[in-house]
Amino acid sequence: MTARFTDRTVVVTGAGSGMGRAEALALAAEGAEVWVADLNGDSARTVSDEIVRRGGAATPYPMNVAEPEEWQRLAEALDVLHGLVNNAGISFRHGIAATGVEDWRRVMDVNLSSVFYGMKFLAPALARAGNAAIVNVSSIAGMLGYFSAAYGTSKWGVRGLTKVGALEFAGDGIRVNSVHPGLVDTPLLRSGEDRFVTESLRAVPSRRVAAPQEVAAAVLFLLSDEASYVSGTELVVDGGLVSGGIYHRLTTDLSE
Ligand code: NAD
Repeated sequence: MTARFTDRTVVVTGAGSGMGRAEALALAAEGAEVWVADLNGDSARTVSDEIVRRGGAATPYPMNVAEPEEWQRLAEALDVLHGLVNNAGISFRHGIAATGVEDWRRVMDVNLSSVFYGMKFLAPALARAGNAAIVNVSSIAGMLGYFSAAYGTSKWGVRGLTKVGALEFAGDGIRVNSVHPGLVDTPLLRSGEDRFVTESLRAVPSRRVAAPQEVAAAVLFLLSDEASYVSGTELVVDGGLVSGGIYHRLTTDLSE
């Protein structure tokens, strides 16, 4: 495969684990210099070391994406930026009644405000590239009615904010798209009850969880020049769950 990201610099948030890690490794394998941003400085360094060991270029960058000052600091450290993946996020699987005000604020800060800060503060460096792309990681929870108040709302917000960015930054040569993963095999997915995963899988026509690399492939496509006319779109990577999962489950149940 040709290296699509030679001489390009890309920031990936939440790159110390799961999908962010897979995206960072895949980008570096295709020539990008990757800024491995994560709240957990140790895992940022581990992923960065792994990239360098494999012959790539990486900078570990400990940061809390929920803090606007930390984005400002990152913007000052970057001159020209070709890609930004707003991937960092936290899970919170509770409805309105069981969500405390502090829980609500924390999930919104990490999952949604971070995307606003990232686009706001890094847009000038992305514009200097003349040809750049932002990928905001939402979820299938941002595509349909979802039981989790804060998580679902944050992911709908990411979807909406992506459209604003696509409109606002098109003139600067920056494309902005959202990715909506379904069930992906990462520590976040496994952070709650196992039954949540096994029951959810019954509504996945592909009958399995995704590997983080399968979502990374979609993110890399949107960052690359192959997607040069793709902006403001929603790329769902979910094994068919959103488009027909309910009927998959119904017909499977009826045939048993
Ligand atoms: P993960 O828990 O494996 O990795 C998330 C990373 O984000 C961790 O390294 C963590 O340290 C980092 N992080 C958390 N809070 C941070 C903060 N405030 N600042 C900086 N870094 C922070 O999770 P994952 O499953 O790879 O999830 C990545 C993204 O994909 C998230 O936005 C998540 O909501 C979304 N998503 C996940 C799934 C799934 O099934 N795993 C499905 C849909 C969407």
